[in-house]
Amino acid sequence: MTNNIYFIANWKMYGSTSSLNSLNKLITLSKLKKYNKAKIIYFPPFTLINDLIKKFNKTKILVGGQNCHHIEDYGSFTGSISPKMLKDLGCKYVILGHSENRTSGENDNDVNKKIRSALNKKLKIVFCIGETLKEKRKKLTYSVLKKQINKGLKGVKNYQNFLVAYEPVWAIGTGVIPKNKELKFNVATIRKLISKKTKKKLPILYGGSVNSKNISGLKNITGISGFLVGSASQSSKKFIDIIKKTIN
Ligand code: PEP
Repeated sequence: MTNNIYFIANWKMYGSTSSLNSLNKLITLSKLKKYNKAKIIYFPPFTLINDLIKKFNKTKILVGGQNCHHIEDYGSFTGSISPKMLKDLGCKYVILGHSENRTSGENDNDVNKKIRSALNKKLKIVFCIGETLKEKRKKLTYSVLKKQINKGLKGVKNYQNFLVAYEPVWAIGTGVIPKNKELKFNVATIRKLISKKTKKKLPILYGGSVNSKNISGLKNITGISGFLVGSASQSSKKFIDIIKKTIN
């Protein structure tokens, strides 16, 4: 695998203040020289961002928001969080374009506006893309990825702080992962499409049912610089296992 290996923990709408002690072992692991190249980033629900920032103080583990509003600063948007607010808390990253938000109505144009606002506030981006099962069956994967990339990244100039997460929607939370050949092919396709936007070699991560059992196969796939882990990241033990099996 590449120099830096990203391990992203997306807690979705899970986690409580009482569950944070279980992160002590992960903090210990993150300080070991052996895991120097592991870039660990946690995306808790908004309610736990402050707690995790405090918990990971003086460690190299970073924290981000799972989404944000497209208005950069403040506004009358009940229930929303702006890039400025994430930044104010100490977040370094934000996930944008996650399929669970696309399914709830977010379109490529919305994702694009959010990306540009978040970049203006100096947040780093985890840009999620991927096809649904229906699209895959209709052999539309290429055109879906192309559309998500072209519309999502329209007008984006600064790719300094950018990660791309390939997350086939049919693999998220299902226990099913793509075959190695298919995954390698789609990652190479994304690499080609992104290269039309920037000369910078952006890290491309894989997400979708990653766990401590399938990680040994996934880690050898060419072109992947890390993993976006949903359900399995809610257990520190499982997440640690994934990191250990990737870097051994
Ligand atoms: C995700 O939340 O993006 C994800 C990949 O979830 P899971 O690992 O549970 O499939």
